[in-house]
This record gives sequence, C-alpha cells and structure tokens, in this order.
Amino acid sequence: ATPAATMVGTAIGARNGVLFKGGDVLERVHEVDTVVFDKTGTLTKGEMELTDVEVVGPATDGGALKPERERTEAFVLEVAASAEHASEHPLAEAIVDGARERGIEVDDPDEFENVPGQGVKATTRHGRVLVGNRKLLSEAGVDTAPAEERMDALEREGKTAMLVALAEDADDDDSDPDYRLIGIVADADTVKESAKAAVSGLRERGLGVWLITGDNGRTARAVAEEVGIDPDNVMADVLPEDKADAVDDLQSDGGQAMMVGDGVNDAPALAAASVGCAIGSGTDVAIEAGDVTLLRDDPADVMKAIRISEATLQKIK
Ligand code: ADP
Ligand code: MG
Repeated sequence: ATPAATMVGTAIGARNGVLFKGGDVLERVHEVDTVVFDKTGTLTKGEMELTDVEVVGPATDGGALKPERERTEAFVLEVAASAEHASEHPLAEAIVDGARERGIEVDDPDEFENVPGQGVKATTRHGRVLVGNRKLLSEAGVDTAPAEERMDALEREGKTAMLVALAEDADDDDSDPDYRLIGIVADADTVKESAKAAVSGLRERGLGVWLITGDNGRTARAVAEEVGIDPDNVMADVLPEDKADAVDDLQSDGGQAMMVGDGVNDAPALAAASVGCAIGSGTDVAIEAGDVTLLRDDPADVMKAIRISEATLQKIK
C-alpha cells in the first residue's frame, strides 16, 4: 500500500482498538484464509472459577491416607491450593481463591515447579503434591484410571478438570515419590459474549476457523460447540512448543493463517502464523510476538481487522 493508504488504515484501526504493526501487516491481514483461536483467555474470558472438588475413592488407589487425614473434599482442596499458591496460571489462581472462599487456609509450598501445559509439582507441608492433567500424573507413575469416569463427566460440561496426587512421606530428595491419587478439582471459564458472532462472521466469509488449546479434547469440543467451531477443527492437548507446528501445518499447502492468542504459550504460534493477532490484555510476550493487537480483547475485532485491511487495499488499487 502507499504510505498514505497505510496511514489511513492504521489510524482507522487505532480508532477501533485494532493496532497494526506496520503497513505490510495491513496488506497481509485480508489475505488470510484460516483463523486459529486459542481457547483460554481468547475465546473465553480466562476468568476461571473453582466449580468442583471430588475425592477419588480409597478402595481403588491402593491404600489409605494417614489416619489423621480424612478423605474429605476440604483436604483435597487444601492440598491442591497449597501446591498452586506459587503458580500464576489462571487455573491455579481459581483453585487458591476457591479454597479461601471455602474457609481453607492456604500455605505457600516449600518447593515448586511449574510444568508448562501440564500442571505443577510442589512440596507442601502435607508432602509432595502433583496437580495437573493426565500426562503429568501418568509420567509420575500414577494410575489415573480411578478418576477417569468423573474427569470425563466434568470435561463434557466444558470444565477443566485436574487431578490431585499426594506422596505424604516423600521429602524433596526423593527422586521417585510414591504418589497416590486423592482427588479432582475442576475450574470453569465463560465464553466471551461475542465469540459466537465472531466465529459465524468469519465462517460466512468462507474462512476456516480452528480452535487450538493445551486443554483436553472434551473440554475443547464443548467450548467449540458453544461458539460454533466444527469439532473436526479442534486441536486439543497441544503442548506450548507444538502450537507453532500446528499453525505451520495449516499453512503447509500455501494457505495463510491468522493465529489469535493471549498467552506466553501462544507466542511461537503467533510468530509462525502469516498474521499473529494478540489479545490486548494478554501477556507482553504475546503482544510482542504478534503483528496486530486487539485492544478490546474482543474476538469479533478479528473481522474488523480484516475489513480495515481490505478497505485499505481497495482504496489504493
Ligand atoms: P491453554 O492452551 O488453554 O491456554 P495451557 O497450555 O496453559 O492451556 O495448559 C494446558 C493444560 O495443562 C490445562 O488445561 C491443565 O490441564 C494443565 N495445567 C496447566 N497449568 C496448570 C496448573 N497451574 N495447575 C493445574 N493444571 C495445569
Ligand atoms: Mg490462552
């Protein structure tokens, strides 16, 4: 585009809360044929709330806890919250807030490790703790089968269910603690008001619309259904480092994808996409990796960006 057209397009964008990083971006945006949305914080508000705490039965997991530690939901939540206290993940913050609201005292863990895309490992006053997805627990040697039926049911409701395991007597030096599954905690998030309209607008324009997430398939498909994304266009259980490859795959036949995301874990995918589109309230890393920033955090502004790009290019032809 001519410098003048670029200036006009950029200014119109800014007035509409759509920031383009330069003229070449303005030219590329309307050429995308595919839009890939991150789930948490992009299509959903990312404001998680603790919704469920469940005890996983003692008969099935090979032994009882120490006698003074009853198998109660409050104990499961206390253990989970103490481990998550050191994490800044929205899932973790919801668990800690939920525990406090229920009158549970939440301690800081002595040791803490964040496992991106999987969960947390911590040493708390209760012992060594794992909170996270199936992968995190299976890799630590925990059989997740006793929780599967309940996990499945919670995920079908669109909730993110996390497993809680405890190794009561293990200290920090123990390289292979004997974890036992003690329960499940679940968080739920709400879909942004305009997400459905955003998706239908893009689909009417003939664009392919995808959802990509580190969350599991059942939760992802429940959200996809709510916003009108085809279940075949859902990529779930995608590790942060694999999100960029997934975008590259969609572009492998010469297609051009726009990736829309908010998180640190979306940054490589934002860079890999023909157009990276960051949510304004998202992390600095995402905004830096992106070509466009949506200041209003509104997925419907993706269409606005495309229209502005199109109008800018038409004016100069
Ligand atoms: P998304 O791609 O939706 O933004 P993430 O990649 O951050 O999600 O996380 C993927 C999955 O890993 C979550 O759905 C959850 O099961 C698990 N997970 C990540 N962080 C945590 C945490 N702090 N506590 C428990 N589970 C977690
Ligand atoms: Mg996200």
